[in-house]
Amino acid sequence: MKLQEFRSKEILARHGVPLILGEVARTPEEARAAAERIGGPVVVKAQVLVGGRGKAGGVKLAGNPAEAEARAREIIGLVIKGVTVRTLLVAPAAQIAREYYLGLILDRGGKTITIIASAEGGVEIEETAKTNPAAILRLPLHPLIGLQRHNVRRVSFFLGIPPELRSAFAETLTALYAAFIGSDADLAEINPLVVTDDGQLLALDAKMVLDDSALPGHADLEEMRDLDEEEPSEAAAREAGINFIKLDGTIGCMVNGAGLAMTTMDLIKLAGGEPANFLDIGGGAKADRVAAAFGIILDDPNVRSILVNIFGGITRGDEVAHGIVEARATLTRDVPMVVRIVGTNAEEAAEILRRANLITADSLDDAAAKAVAASRGEQP
Ligand code: GDP
Ligand code: MN
Repeated sequence: MKLQEFRSKEILARHGVPLILGEVARTPEEARAAAERIGGPVVVKAQVLVGGRGKAGGVKLAGNPAEAEARAREIIGLVIKGVTVRTLLVAPAAQIAREYYLGLILDRGGKTITIIASAEGGVEIEETAKTNPAAILRLPLHPLIGLQRHNVRRVSFFLGIPPELRSAFAETLTALYAAFIGSDADLAEINPLVVTDDGQLLALDAKMVLDDSALPGHADLEEMRDLDEEEPSEAAAREAGINFIKLDGTIGCMVNGAGLAMTTMDLIKLAGGEPANFLDIGGGAKADRVAAAFGIILDDPNVRSILVNIFGGITRGDEVAHGIVEARATLTRDVPMVVRIVGTNAEEAAEILRRANLITADSLDDAAAKAVAASRGEQP
């Protein structure tokens, strides 16, 4: 789950990262009122879950409340990388002397948390990685011991933090680490972390990505989810208790079990097709859940065929077959469906599917080939 800047800052501030929260505004008038309360120059910032807002005109300085209102009017409704701006953050403007990048990521390949730091802050780190990779420090932390003082010193020297700010920097990195661990994050980044004209260290922008699987243990963080910006189909799936991730292909997948779903996607690719989604319908797979899954898959206009791959264990194949036939009758859009059901009561299932004129398959290879052919409008 990606968090908006103002949410990320809330979490970081709670753990002691130095920053000024500012106020959230949803209208130009609210932005003006916020600027009045803050007093002095402010920065008006689009709250969207994409990077590069500054370059896209989504971050603007305002000298007084009237200007803040005018800037807010320009930013609200702006489309940044396909996302329409609805929410703003109004915060005191900082006078910037230096900008750094400071982030923590969960490096799955390296099996540990890694610090990423650069003295070329402000710009997107992916950009620096391309143009000047030597300007980036990647420092893996010990997977069991975590952040240590020598790690902090190493980063501090790499960035060239001035001596009088080294202890403030150590506190900031320690607080960032605590926020990362405390919220089960996959990413926590401050870009830019600035030194102000009057020599303060301050986080001006923040971004956090939390591990969805850890959210059940963090009720307070789950509330921070931004429903405005979620893929609507993924939100609908979460409501229905279905594990779903939208992809770009043309073949919808409905599978029980995450591993089987991954395998199904691999075999679709091997057969020359592209999966339109990952979908694990979970255990049981009763008619209402199957119907919800079909609805979510077919909401995607790119879907040209559906491959259903069910392994009947406790879930009986004939029950699933009934569910599929029932659910299919309720659909607003129909596409060719290839159904493979194996395991418990597979033969009864095949009979039900044949009677309902669904395309069946003997093996998963066969099913994938048929689904690919059907997606191209060929007779499988
Ligand atoms: P991003 O473009 O989405 O990463 O948004 P940021 O919040 O990082 O803002 C982009 C850039 O705007 C920063 O790197 C700063 O250079 C500038 N900026 C942001 N806040 C302030 C501020 O309070 N004062 C000044 N002078 N510049 C700011
Ligand atoms: Mn930024």
